[in-house]
Amino acid sequence: MTTNGPEIALAAPDVGEAELLLVAEVLRSGRLSMGPVIERFEAEFAARFGARFAVGVSSGTAALHLAMLAAGVGEGDLVVTTPFSFIASANPILYERAVPVFVDIDPRTLTMDAALAADAVDAIANRRSGWKRLLPPLAGPLRKLKAIVPVHVFGRMAEMAPILAVAQAEGIAVIEDACEAIGASADGVPAGRFGQAGVFGFYPNKQITCGEGGMILTDDEPWVHLFRSLRNQGRGEGDSWLQHERLGFNYRLDEMSAAVGLAQLRRLDELLRKRAEVAHGYSSRLAGVAGVETLAPPRPGTESSWFVYVVRLARDIDRAAVMAGLAAGGIPTRPYFAPIHLQSFYRSAFGFARGDFPHAEAAGDATLALPFHGDLSVAEIDRVVERLAAEVAAARGTVEGAGA
Ligand SMILES: *Cc1c(COP(=O)(O)O)cnc(C)c1O
Repeated sequence: MTTNGPEIALAAPDVGEAELLLVAEVLRSGRLSMGPVIERFEAEFAARFGARFAVGVSSGTAALHLAMLAAGVGEGDLVVTTPFSFIASANPILYERAVPVFVDIDPRTLTMDAALAADAVDAIANRRSGWKRLLPPLAGPLRKLKAIVPVHVFGRMAEMAPILAVAQAEGIAVIEDACEAIGASADGVPAGRFGQAGVFGFYPNKQITCGEGGMILTDDEPWVHLFRSLRNQGRGEGDSWLQHERLGFNYRLDEMSAAVGLAQLRRLDELLRKRAEVAHGYSSRLAGVAGVETLAPPRPGTESSWFVYVVRLARDIDRAAVMAGLAAGGIPTRPYFAPIHLQSFYRSAFGFARGDFPHAEAAGDATLALPFHGDLSVAEIDRVVERLAAEVAAARGTVEGAGA
């Protein structure tokens, strides 16, 4: 058995002199909100991804909420999305009292099964026979299907073509949750540039961080005016300070956070390269480890962006025991993700139950996120892999009735 060592970080932001300098400049300037730095961050973000507009907000969740509002999502409306994601990708649907319609994942890619999603959109939009079986058991009075939210889970591109085609045919919005996928692409098109809006989040475990912050990319001018108004208490542009045209929010991104984000954006290629090197370090070392499966390579034509490093454990391995063993050795891990439909308040609000989305549930039962960030050393990677192999060997066959 390998020796214990100091605690390894599960995730870590990569900030340095460039970020410090820009933040210090903001603090000395005296403009701490609604100043020039967020405008600079937005301009460089839009340019980097070839969008007409970028709108900075206080979080990825806020960005998704504003995108729901722009898509006209309201009480009783339906929004199609994946149950295998971080809960923030679905919660904004609930903020507007709309109804999430989950579609199971492709077990290989772990992203929403695009063929199933396209069929669900077509069935619901056209009230085809059996369409109600696609809805949550407790859906309440329904209105219209308004949007579809594909998520690029773990930085791996969801399959967009069938989703874009059916959304266009049925006149619904595509809101891309690219919060885990900055810098990923498919056929050369960046994540966040397929839908009417693409949404990013900058929490400290993401590929680039602001501390807290988010960004929306869009080419749609009316949507941009709406986003700018809604993030700032519903003020009209050019209106005087106390004129409010609509119910808005305080979803502003402050200047210090924008400064960190701007410096990080300028380092994006470096940050992504460092994460990819760590990921490849894991993949090559894990190739021969029995009971531990690395994720399938990304679909042809796509480039991933490494958000987390996730493996799948064989079915006869007690994941909790492996996690406890790793934790005892100073190696934190997380079960990524617990499917959204099985969270308690989704179950009670919508009547979801285990068995509703078997592929998402199977993935949720078997996946494990290992410590991952761009500064993870080779020695740390070796330590994680050795300990993981040992814990998995010890936990093999401990789950009764599960074939390997
Ligand atoms: C992180 C994340 C979000 C939300 O971003 P925050 O900035 O934390 O609000 C949304 N969706 C997914 C898939 C995420 O991973």
